[in-house]
Amino acid sequence: MATAGKVIKCKAAVAWEAGKPLSIEEVEVAPPQAMEVRVKILYTSLCHTDVYFWEAKGQTPVFPRIFGHEAGGIIESVGEGVTDVAPGDHVLPVFTGECKECPHCKSAESNMCDLLRINTDRGVMIGDGKSRFSINGKPIYHFVGTSTFSEYTVMHVGCVAKINPEAPLDKVCVLSCGISTGLGATINVAKPPKGSTVAIFGLGAVGLAAAEGARIAGASRIIGVDLNPSRFEEARKFGCTEFVNPKDHNKPVQQVLADMTNGGVDRSVECTGNINAMIQAFECVHDGWGVAVLVGVPHKDAEFKTHPMNFLNERTLKGTFFGNYKPRTDLPNVVELYMKKELEVEKFITHSVPFTEINKAFDLMAKGEGIRCIIRMEN
Ligand code: NAD
Ligand code: ZN
Repeated sequence: MATAGKVIKCKAAVAWEAGKPLSIEEVEVAPPQAMEVRVKILYTSLCHTDVYFWEAKGQTPVFPRIFGHEAGGIIESVGEGVTDVAPGDHVLPVFTGECKECPHCKSAESNMCDLLRINTDRGVMIGDGKSRFSINGKPIYHFVGTSTFSEYTVMHVGCVAKINPEAPLDKVCVLSCGISTGLGATINVAKPPKGSTVAIFGLGAVGLAAAEGARIAGASRIIGVDLNPSRFEEARKFGCTEFVNPKDHNKPVQQVLADMTNGGVDRSVECTGNINAMIQAFECVHDGWGVAVLVGVPHKDAEFKTHPMNFLNERTLKGTFFGNYKPRTDLPNVVELYMKKELEVEKFITHSVPFTEINKAFDLMAKGEGIRCIIRMEN
């Protein structure tokens, strides 16, 4: 391509300060270095993790920064040593990578790559500790190795999953984070047996995908727990059979769920990021066999407190990043689930805005409206 090896000037949504609306700026995007790729982003969407680090209330502030990690795009050019992907390939960026060489990548059980696992505080590339984005020579920092709120971005090759070029990027882009995370948290980690009862805490995109996972796994009762009752109607479409709003009860939600289920749910999946919900999600599982899975990203000072007896009574607590999927190896198969119509992604996409109106996606999330808002880079 004509742009390979050259700096590309393009539009990016820059967060100059915590919590301030993003501003569309012309940025310079340096060519990819060794083991890096430069990707033309076509569609991106907003996930709550972007908002946490943009607000930077309970997180380390790194600014100015280009957020965004849920997206779909096409490889524009590749750096030295890249053999897995080539210009023109369709890819989904992933916030946590897969180097394919470390002990984690070689383990069938882990997706916590030593080299490329999520690092929310790092704003630079791993290779040389520098940013590939700049404005008038001043660096603009990266976010989780993806920074997809830009027409072009540079990523480590281990953070892109090459997918079926037939897959519509405006739909499957949502599989690059939230939906796969929730789906995998249930299917790969909680593993509800057929006919079991599953509680889902938090009915945002991740929680609804976790509910979808429970439905696919054959759970017979799926209990959605959320403080926002407007989520309940939506959640029905994702297999939720019952709902609990903790605010409607004057006893702990753990007790409410135990009363509803003869002692506790078989599995629970926490998708809120709220520490109290995490503790509740653990304490509401049945003794003897219950498994709770934490997915939400906690406040940086959060501490998980529960009585050790809850473990001795044979409850299991687990956590997962990205639903235990290995990004490069497994994500193409999740896309195929969609292509085979076994997984519906359309129902997760409730809004769409042009890139120039990206702040509207933030407003929708702040209001708790809709599930995913697609941001169209080109129109
Ligand atoms: P979201 O804001 O759309 O949904 C969260 C839902 O939780 C909301 O409906 C909210 O009302 C509800 N909620 C908040 N506090 C609650 C409480 N105490 N009890 C019950 N419900 C409560 O967010 P999302 O995009 O669906 O993401 C969910 C979480 O997953 C976030 O913390 C996000 O950062 C995290 N996440 C983790 C991974 C991972 O790999 N582990 C990946 C993506 C997202
Ligand atoms: Zn690795």
